[in-house]
Amino acid sequence: MSDGTGSRKIESQHAGVRNVIRLPDRFAFLRGNCTRILLWPAACGVAAALLWGFALARIEADRGAIEQAALETASNLARAYAEHLKRSIAQIDQVTTLVKYEWEQGQGHLKLENLEASGLFPESDLLFVLIAGRDGRIRTATGPVRIDASLSDRPAFAFHKVNDSTSLRIGQPIHGRFADRTVIHFSRRLDGVDHSFGGVVVVSVDPSHFTAFYDATGVGQAGLLGMVGTDSVPRAIRNGGEGSRAEPAALWGAEFLRETDQGTRYMDGTAEFIDGRSRFVAWRAVSSHPLIAVVGLDGDEVMAPFLQHRATTIKALLLGTLGLACFAALSMGLTARLAWRKYQEEQVRDAYRMATEGGSEGFYMLRVLRDRRNQVIDFEVADCNQRGAGLSGLTRTELVGKRFSGLYREPYLAEVMQTFRDALESGLHEDDFEVPDGSPLEANWVHRKIVRSGSGLALTLRDISETKAQERALSRLANEDPVTRLANRNWLMEFLPGAIERARHQGEFLGLLFIDLDDFKNVNDTLGHAAGDEVLQAVARRLHSLVRPSDHVVRIGGDEFTIILEPLADAAQASRVADRISESIAQPFEIARGCSTLSASIGISLYPRDGADIETLLKSSDIAMYHAKAEGKGQHRFYEPGLLERLTQRLDAEQALVRALKEDQFIVHYQPRVDAASRRLTALEALVRWQHPERGLVAPGEFVPLAEETGLVVPLGEAVINKVCAQVAAWRAAGLPVVPVSINVSSRQFAAGSVAAVIDASLTLHQLPSALIEVEITESSMMGEQTEVAANLAALRARGIRLLVDDFGTGYSSLSQLQRLDVDGLKIDRSFVVEIGVTRESEVFVSAIVSMAHALGMVVTAEGVETETQMRILEALGCNEVQGFLIARPAPAERIVELLRTPAGASEFATPWDATG
Ligand code: C2E
Ligand code: CA
Ligand code: CA
Repeated sequence: MSDGTGSRKIESQHAGVRNVIRLPDRFAFLRGNCTRILLWPAACGVAAALLWGFALARIEADRGAIEQAALETASNLARAYAEHLKRSIAQIDQVTTLVKYEWEQGQGHLKLENLEASGLFPESDLLFVLIAGRDGRIRTATGPVRIDASLSDRPAFAFHKVNDSTSLRIGQPIHGRFADRTVIHFSRRLDGVDHSFGGVVVVSVDPSHFTAFYDATGVGQAGLLGMVGTDSVPRAIRNGGEGSRAEPAALWGAEFLRETDQGTRYMDGTAEFIDGRSRFVAWRAVSSHPLIAVVGLDGDEVMAPFLQHRATTIKALLLGTLGLACFAALSMGLTARLAWRKYQEEQVRDAYRMATEGGSEGFYMLRVLRDRRNQVIDFEVADCNQRGAGLSGLTRTELVGKRFSGLYREPYLAEVMQTFRDALESGLHEDDFEVPDGSPLEANWVHRKIVRSGSGLALTLRDISETKAQERALSRLANEDPVTRLANRNWLMEFLPGAIERARHQGEFLGLLFIDLDDFKNVNDTLGHAAGDEVLQAVARRLHSLVRPSDHVVRIGGDEFTIILEPLADAAQASRVADRISESIAQPFEIARGCSTLSASIGISLYPRDGADIETLLKSSDIAMYHAKAEGKGQHRFYEPGLLERLTQRLDAEQALVRALKEDQFIVHYQPRVDAASRRLTALEALVRWQHPERGLVAPGEFVPLAEETGLVVPLGEAVINKVCAQVAAWRAAGLPVVPVSINVSSRQFAAGSVAAVIDASLTLHQLPSALIEVEITESSMMGEQTEVAANLAALRARGIRLLVDDFGTGYSSLSQLQRLDVDGLKIDRSFVVEIGVTRESEVFVSAIVSMAHALGMVVTAEGVETETQMRILEALGCNEVQGFLIARPAPAERIVELLRTPAGASEFATPWDATG
């Protein structure tokens, strides 16, 4: 199905080309490549044609030059030959002239033999001389001639007989009767007395005499020499260098010879020469004789070197042509093969694209671009599928041809180039990566696979954003605190080993800050969990803003945070961070339900000083934090080796307290409060003691702070309330005149939110009126806008329980606060009472408090009164009640009974009543 549509697509892409050239499918790859393939033979053909044209033109030029030179040589030879003939004939002419003279002088008496013997004739067996008389009979001769033989039938004799010219006649070749060979007769008329015809002198010459001039070096082996009469009749012809033949070897109707005195001409020989050979012919008239000297150079001989040269040239040309043809064929083959490869590659690419189309993967073929030094300078998208283009928000046509330098932006471009270069080197690269700025990809996370393919790269990209998002969500769930969005303990445990390893490797410190919010439980207890979460989020934000980006803030649970300082130069740096944190946490937190003030205790441990592994480091910082908390909260402490022991001790103490509570080792002592003026008993203050099985009676100063820190103060306070109520009920039952008893309640108990209910329950249980119970709350624990405390106090007031502000003067409570909380009385702290009678300021202070308290309708009690002087001054200043060792020390219930029995009166307390005995 998909195959069908695929091939249809390919066809439609090539439809335009198909309409022009129809090729069988087997040659489909030639489409668009025909011209390129046919270019080779065409180019080679042109090259061959040029080569041949040039070479043949050169050959033609050579031939012309050689022919010209041959004709010139022939011409020169003809001139020399003409000169030679002229001299030869002049010699013969001289002979006839001499003979004629001698004959005429001697009146017909002449013996030629004598003349010959005297050396007057040239020495030659080629010629002989004879004289014929008026009647034609031979009179004398030099050669083998029969005397008296007749010459009258010879043309020479006939000519001279009727012609009275005395000039030399040159006859045509005839058969010589005496020599029995062809001869030429040179003849002259002899005059008799009175100038009548007296006979002829004839010189018979063998024609070869005239062709002895033949010289093979000039004329060649097959040259031609000819002496031709102006009457066109050849007199002597010599053909070839071997021997000399008198017979004319060549015959021609040499009419043209008469046209000019001299000239040259190429003759192909068929019409002119008996042997049919071609010749370069030159001729020249022999001056003063009707003769023409002809020289012919043999055509074949002249042209032989040229023909040989031409033959080699043509052979070379043929070889060159063959080479070009081979080259063309080879190039055609290679081009066709290249086209075939390309076609196949395209087919594969098309097929792959078609196959990957519709899949979720983007597929790309990348071309590698290199510079002259073969360095990779860029990558180009050679092809891709639609999905691949879509990943970059482009269409396929838009993306194909684009280069990385145009697709990616710096500085990411450099990174991508490196990755792909490495992949090209190694052949394979596969990874998941988060798409950074500078990439055209529109996904967030991408799986990438790069494979070297041929000289390029094949790249597959898959959008894995969703999977990654899910993975991240899961890992966030596992590693993130949902309230603060900080990393959680889980994350910390995974992260720390690496951080430790890094610090070890770099030789640096690693700081671990263990942060615990002091009394955070109060926030939760008094303001509710939503407010608690809000505060935790605010704390997280503050912590985060205080550290460097390389540091990590972790919430490891509840109100506990950890900060990893990485890297860390020294301990002082960690100390500074801790100081900043303490300062920052101390700033009030503005939350929806009001304002909350906190502090944080911070423990610091350092790698490698305080531990080399996670557990030890965490434990060390934890111990240090406990130490900081035990030392007074809101501060930081470094881990020290002895800390654990101290903590252990504290822990032991805590456990002892728990046990004491369980085993009911706490008892209550009572201290009287009396009217300042009458010294009559007005009330008792309940003060807890620990009846320790070994240590004896332990004062609250030794265990109440620990009980407050650990929260044990809540059950302890509850026990005290119950004991007091039970005691008062017992005194009542015993019929004693009871006075109200004030109970110390710590703010921690208020935070637990149960004080009013516990008192209520206890009063009900013991059937006591609420007027018999008073509550003392320290001024410091009322500070700030602690709505939980306010609500508790209001609840107590609503039940008719009187409220006293304890340790007044040590805190910073405002008048308006006191008024709003509707407290009934103030207890001036002992530290001011001690100064009474010593400094003037203390009296001014007490006087101010008294008048202010009275204005608000509050009763003022002075604590810790030990001397009569203090007593007198306090009374004078208007103080309502006093309490202190001057009146009585705190004492067990049994001792108080006596006091209650005694009718109240100032006199009873005139002398200090030592409760402790
Ligand atoms: P406080 O509420 O200010 O109690 C008065 C303390 O002053 C008592 O010490 C008492 O013995 C001492 N005192 C009284 N008169 C004199 C004097 O003339 N001179 C001197 N030097 N001291 C005097 P005590 O009993 O050791 O209690 C110490 C603190 O323990 C109390 O201070 C109170 O804050 C706390 N406390 C005692 N009992 C309880 C309790 O049941 N619950 C809570 N939450 N705190 C308690
Ligand atoms: Ca008190
Ligand atoms: Ca007090």
